[in-house]
Amino acid sequence: MRERRRARLLPPRRVFEFSAIFVAGGLFVTTAYLAFRACPPGTVWTPLAFLLLGLIASDAISGGVHWAADTYGSPTMPLFGAFVRTFREHHSDPKAITRHDWIETNGDVCLFSAPVHATALLWVDNPWALSWMTGLFMGSYSNSQIHKWSHMDHPPRVVRWLQRLGIVLSSPHHQHHHRGPHLTHYCITTGWTNGALDYLRFFRILERVLAAIGVQATTRGSVPPTVPVHPVFEGRPDRG
Ligand SMILES: [Zn+2]
Ligand SMILES: [Zn+2]
Repeated sequence: MRERRRARLLPPRRVFEFSAIFVAGGLFVTTAYLAFRACPPGTVWTPLAFLLLGLIASDAISGGVHWAADTYGSPTMPLFGAFVRTFREHHSDPKAITRHDWIETNGDVCLFSAPVHATALLWVDNPWALSWMTGLFMGSYSNSQIHKWSHMDHPPRVVRWLQRLGIVLSSPHHQHHHRGPHLTHYCITTGWTNGALDYLRFFRILERVLAAIGVQATTRGSVPPTVPVHPVFEGRPDRG
C-alpha cells in the first residue's frame, strides 16, 4: 500500500525515459567531442581502434545484462523488476518490442546507462579511454533499438543493409536466442561476441560460480504479459 502511494508521487515513467534519452544524447556528444579534442593531431587509426573495442565491449555487456535479467530476479522486484519483465515477457511475445515507440524502446537503456556514463566522464580524460567510451556508449544507447529492428519484419532499408553486413544484430543471428530454452546468443548490439561467449560457456560457468557463493538462478521461464511488476513501474500492459 505504501509502495502504491509512493508510485503516485513519482512523475510518469515516460518523463523519466524522455529525460534519460535527452541526457544520454548530450553525454554521448560531449564524450565524442572530448575524445576528438584530446587526441593528438593527425591520429586517426588509434582512436578508431579504441572506438571499435568500445563497441565490442558494449556488445558483451548487453549480453551480460540480458543474461542477468533472463536468469536472476523476478518481475516483482523493486526497481529492476520492469527490466527483468522486459526480457522474460519478450520470450513469450517476441513481437511486443516492435509495437513500442521510440521513447519506450530506448528509455530503459538510457535510464540505466546515463548515470554510469556521467560518472565515468568525471574521471576520464585520456584520449584513448574517451575514444573507447564513445564506442561503448554508442553501442549501449542503441542496443534496444537494434534489438527491436532484429524483430521487425520490415526494418528500414539502411538497417537491413547494416544487418546484412553484420554491423548490427541481424534477425537470423538473434533468432538463435529465441529458439529453444534461451540459453545462448544473449548479446544484442552487434552480436560479435556471442560466438566466443557461447563457445567458452561463459554464462554457464558464471552461474556455477555464483551458485557456489549462494546466488541461485531463479526461474528462466518466460512470463506472460499479465504478471504485475513492482508498483513503481506499473501501468505498462505489453512490455516486451
Ligand atoms: Zn532472453
Ligand atoms: Zn529478442
